[in-house]
Amino acid sequence: MKRVVLALFLFPAALAAQATQVSTPHHHGSAQIDIVFSDTGFALALRVPSMDIVGFETPVENDDSRTRVAIAMSKLSDPLNLFVTPSEAGCSTVAAHVVLTYGITLQSGEANAVTGSTTAESHSEFQADYVIQCHDMSALNMIEFAYFAQFSGTDQLNIQLKTGGAQDAVDITGAAPYLDLPPDR
Ligand SMILES: [Zn+2]
Repeated sequence: MKRVVLALFLFPAALAAQATQVSTPHHHGSAQIDIVFSDTGFALALRVPSMDIVGFETPVENDDSRTRVAIAMSKLSDPLNLFVTPSEAGCSTVAAHVVLTYGITLQSGEANAVTGSTTAESHSEFQADYVIQCHDMSALNMIEFAYFAQFSGTDQLNIQLKTGGAQDAVDITGAAPYLDLPPDR
């Protein structure tokens, strides 16, 4: 599998961790989000086809593409501007790692909307890992997905919530970009 990492913020360890994740399916219009809560905050992992963020999945070859990727990277590096928490919770970003990765496996049967190709090499996605710390977890009763206002190419966020031993799956769309969090998580 061919994969080129164009940009990387912070630790090389993040790159190594990403390398194990790229074989999972990739569906245009949908982003995958995993949120894992702890006593002091939460970790959020985002995977989204680059088609939905910058409008292409081909390797970056010109200044226009580079500019679009740089702008996207900048937006994706500010998670609390995309995933807005109540101010009472006092959340802040501890870590933000964003990469653009090529060589993504396509969800079965889906062809690339632009090239018609179904080869893995024709797909790329942004992958981001965030660590958020909050002063008052009891005030963290919802997340607003301002993400949709920034990235209109995403129709749906497929969210996996994990807390303790429990796991929940929720799909969020731009029509109702809010996720209520249960108080007993
Ligand atoms: Zn794709």
